[in-house]
Amino acid sequence: MKALVVGAGIGGLSAALALAKSGWAVTVFEKSTTIKEIGAGVQISPNGMKVLNSLGVTPLIENSLYEPKHLEVRFGRSGRKVFSVPFKEVALKRWGARYIQIHRNDLIQALLTALKNYNNVQIITGATVESYLNGSSTVSINITNQKSECGDLLIGADGLNSAIRGQMHGSSSPTYTGYAAWRFTVPEKLLNQNTTPVNSCVWVGEDKHIVVTRINSGKTINFVGVVKRESLIKESWNLKGAKEALTKDFKNWDPVVENIISSSDKIFLGGLYNRAPLKSWTDNKTVLVGDAAHPMLPSMAQGASQALEDTSALINCLKEGSTIESSIKKFFLHRNSRVSKIQTRSRDNLNLFHLNKIHKKILYYGGLWLLNQTYPELIHRKQDWIYSYNP
Ligand SMILES: Cc1cc2nc3c(=O)[nH]c(=O)nc-3n(C[C@H](O)[C@H](O)[C@H](O)COP(=O)(O)OP(=O)(O)OC[C@H]3O[C@@H](n4cnc5c(N)ncnc54)[C@H](O)[C@@H]3O)c2cc1C
Repeated sequence: MKALVVGAGIGGLSAALALAKSGWAVTVFEKSTTIKEIGAGVQISPNGMKVLNSLGVTPLIENSLYEPKHLEVRFGRSGRKVFSVPFKEVALKRWGARYIQIHRNDLIQALLTALKNYNNVQIITGATVESYLNGSSTVSINITNQKSECGDLLIGADGLNSAIRGQMHGSSSPTYTGYAAWRFTVPEKLLNQNTTPVNSCVWVGEDKHIVVTRINSGKTINFVGVVKRESLIKESWNLKGAKEALTKDFKNWDPVVENIISSSDKIFLGGLYNRAPLKSWTDNKTVLVGDAAHPMLPSMAQGASQALEDTSALINCLKEGSTIESSIKKFFLHRNSRVSKIQTRSRDNLNLFHLNKIHKKILYYGGLWLLNQTYPELIHRKQDWIYSYNP
């Protein structure tokens, strides 16, 4: 059996690896000329790590991953702690796998290395897939300036602006959320040592929040600062941002934040975009996965982990099903409600991070603070449905 995979992101490469392990011949088509992720971090929670473990990828990222000891939430301006819960010592025991932070490129390169063990996999770069055509027994794709290819299964893992999704559901632009994300990385050794962030932390404030994680085995700080921007900002991982504007956005915030921002060099700014949930992810022998199927806001850090969950679920459905068409339909039915819930919660989380009415802040954050003082286990328990899940 032959699978065509469009897109060599975390979703496409993990799907290719799972299929190759199950004996499929796989060809991956990637529009970029080199497979290289942007310079940013990604968090993979235990539900996603279970997939990387089962694919044999974890040993390949062992030297670059970072496991946060604690996860904190603080108020942006005062820096006052709302709560801090242990993560590293809890994750494996409670949720069955580790919680990690890693440079996206380290994860992509590990997936590529794992794929090299299979001679039934081919990766074609510089190949932009334009459309697909359902035949009676196969599916074929048209690729810009290249001859078409056909297979038994087509996986659209081509991200937020998926061409495969566009053909399946009619092309439309994703919706600008009114928020944009500042992103940069900075080596810890460049920071003023008096105000270095000790833990992974979310700073919350009116219409903005910051998430600081670590990559490069903990030696590099990864900064994501989400701010409200009425005027449309392009969706991009490469659009340069101005340090003055970034500094102004977080002026008079916690000195730890100001320290990180003042040490920044190459800064990027990209709009956050979203799409309404789809009624279906399949068409005959074609299926959507990852951001092509269910883009979500980054406020639960679940996009990549959900793409990894898709991989496991899809391979299980293909193993169990009688035909490809019925297997991928089953995959959609199996995944849809969980993913929709996470899409909704991600949107809700953004609003909670950005609360600006004082009484709402007191109610929500006061409650969390109290919970942390009296019954911190409940904060972990609230994450069980996401992290304990074993796809
Ligand atoms: C600021 C920010 C922070 C985030 N942080 C986290 C986090 O901490 N944890 C987490 O789990 N998620 C996070 N996410 C979400 C996560 O990045 C995505 O959900 C995840 O990368 C989706 O992977 P994917 O493989 O589906 O799509 P993508 O990574 O978008 O990959 C799609 C691939 O398809 C290729 N492609 C596109 N069109 C074509 C075509 N026509 N032909 C051939 N190739 C094509 C692209 O070049 C690309 O390589 C974050 C997102 C943002 C914006």
